[in-house]
Amino acid sequence: MPKNIKKIIIGNMKMNGSKEFNESLFSDLKHNLSAINNLDIVLCVPYPYLYQAQNILAKSNLFWGSQNVAKYEDGAFTGEVSASMLKEFGSQFVIVGHSERSTAYCESDENIAEKFNIVKKFNMTPILCVGETHIEREAGIMESVVSSQLDTIINLYGKSILNNSIIAYEPIWAIGSDHAATSEQIQKMCSFIKKLVNKVSPANLKSLKVIYGGSVNSKNALQLCSLESVDGALIGRASLDENEFSNICQQVQRIL
Ligand code: PEP
Repeated sequence: MPKNIKKIIIGNMKMNGSKEFNESLFSDLKHNLSAINNLDIVLCVPYPYLYQAQNILAKSNLFWGSQNVAKYEDGAFTGEVSASMLKEFGSQFVIVGHSERSTAYCESDENIAEKFNIVKKFNMTPILCVGETHIEREAGIMESVVSSQLDTIINLYGKSILNNSIIAYEPIWAIGSDHAATSEQIQKMCSFIKKLVNKVSPANLKSLKVIYGGSVNSKNALQLCSLESVDGALIGRASLDENEFSNICQQVQRIL
């Protein structure tokens, strides 16, 4: 199977930050990570701060993006934010299907697939979160849960939809828990996802990254990102601390 050249580290700020907090976080990261050129680094910020991210990060080697998008292009959808609006503020990446959204806002796999498709349509990179609950893992059905999440997208939009995309394996039980999945669990699932994509469309695999998310920090990032099938990490809490996030990126860049 082809190997991706560049790993990627993505920060998910969730509903955190303020103008003052971000000013310092974005500026410090821009400074700390300026020498890194063999790793893609992305910050997914709350919508109102896209403008601030664009202003501070425009002349840096960091990318920015959002944590959600509307499934519609425009119209009477109060409170929604469209893909074209995200693009206007320089977003290149959009998280779709994060479990905190699918749980709190009852997002279905079909809904997530529509969002995935609209991100692709506007030439941004979707970061699709997939993963099982603790009960599903206990029942041993984690692979079928993940493959059905991917199947929904492929069945609706065709084999080539997964090219230039990122799939983040985020076991729901590992998010925000201080208990990352084990290296064995991560390697097995990320390899399973790659094999699945390879079966559907081998051409897609070249431009697809499969990353891991769930309690990644500076103590485990190097080990987890060194796994053969893992192309990087999606990081929640640790992305809010400039030293911790910088430390993770600096460690992972040495893997290459
Ligand atoms: C996440 O929310 O995507 C995540 C991985 O969070 P944390 O790193 O805090 O577990």
